[in-house]
Formats: sequence, C-alpha cells, structure tokens
Amino acid sequence: MNDEYIWPIEPKYKVTEHDKYGIRKNHYVLFKERQHSGFDITADIGTEVHSIANGTVILAEFDGTTTEGFDSFNDGYGNKVEILNDDGRRVVYGHLRKYFVKPGDIITKNTVIGLTGSSGGSRVPHLHIEIRKENTEETGLEYTINPLDVLPKIDLEKLTEEFKLEPYAKLWRIMASNKPWDFTPEDIPYSEDKEYIR
Ligand SMILES: [Zn+2]
Repeated sequence: MNDEYIWPIEPKYKVTEHDKYGIRKNHYVLFKERQHSGFDITADIGTEVHSIANGTVILAEFDGTTTEGFDSFNDGYGNKVEILNDDGRRVVYGHLRKYFVKPGDIITKNTVIGLTGSSGGSRVPHLHIEIRKENTEETGLEYTINPLDVLPKIDLEKLTEEFKLEPYAKLWRIMASNKPWDFTPEDIPYSEDKEYIR
C-alpha cells in the first residue's frame, strides 16, 4: 500500500506567512497572537478538494463556532469534512463551499470530497487543511502536525501568482449582510493591503 499523502489541492497562489502552521502574530480579526493548527491553501472558489489518503469520513457538517465576548466572531471551520485516515490521523478540510461525502463513507486517496469556498471564519477563499496526530476532536498545535512535514515536498517559493482579492470583496459584503457573524460589514477588515491577515 502506498501510504504517501497527496496534496488536497495543487497549490497555485503565493503562500504568505499567515497561511503557515504555527503561531500567527496578527490574527485577522483579533489582531493578536493566535495558533494556526493547519495550513491554508488559497484557491478559487469551486476548486476540487481531494482526500490526501485512504480513510473513513467521520464528520461532514457546517461548523459555525463563534468566539464569545467582546471580540466575538465566526471562528468556525465552516463547511468541513473530517476523515480518519487509515494511518490513524484525523484530517480536517475546512471552509468548503460544499462537500460530497457523509459520515461512514470509505474514501480512497484522491477522492474529490468537496469544493473550496470561504465558509466559516474565512475572508479569502482557501482550504484549511489540518492533520491531527491521532483521532481526536482536539485542535491546537499540541494535537496537530505541520501539514508541510508530511505532504509531498514542493517548492512553495516558486508560487508567485498573487490571488486576486477584488472579485471577492463584493461577495464578503453580501455574506456579511446575511449576518453570519456578530459584526457589521464595516467591521470586516477587508483590505487590498498585501499584509492583510486572514
Ligand atoms: Zn487555516
């Protein structure tokens, strides 16, 4: 059996600091340090997402977890799929537009499990892939591994194409107007600024 993982999406756009696994210095809403327990692959909405390994679907649902209190905001994975890989690791595929699987489905590597979107706590269309060390619901750095340590090596520095944010600005305003979060469109720190944190 080939137990090498594959990339869920072929990375196309330039990778920025805040896409990476680890500590984010400046979270996009909280503007403070925060853990990022996965790797973000920026992708056009509707890009096919492939399972990185053989496994079984555990969850396929909308996660709209909201942070409580003053800085309340949608912090969820949005439409997400969680798959228990045959190697015992649980993988989360987050912020999907839609998913094509349901709990109990047996998945072979490379199966298209959904399409990328920007659901949940996301301001730029991307896939959040999170690989947990074992089958646990716990998230955070101590329960996860850096996806770049186990996905096939590719030279991310070679990706120089900038993602075009502009077409999505209008979309976000529509989404905000539907009040998926507890703040107004003006509160969304959307910006053309290249340092924009998502
Ligand atoms: Zn992420």
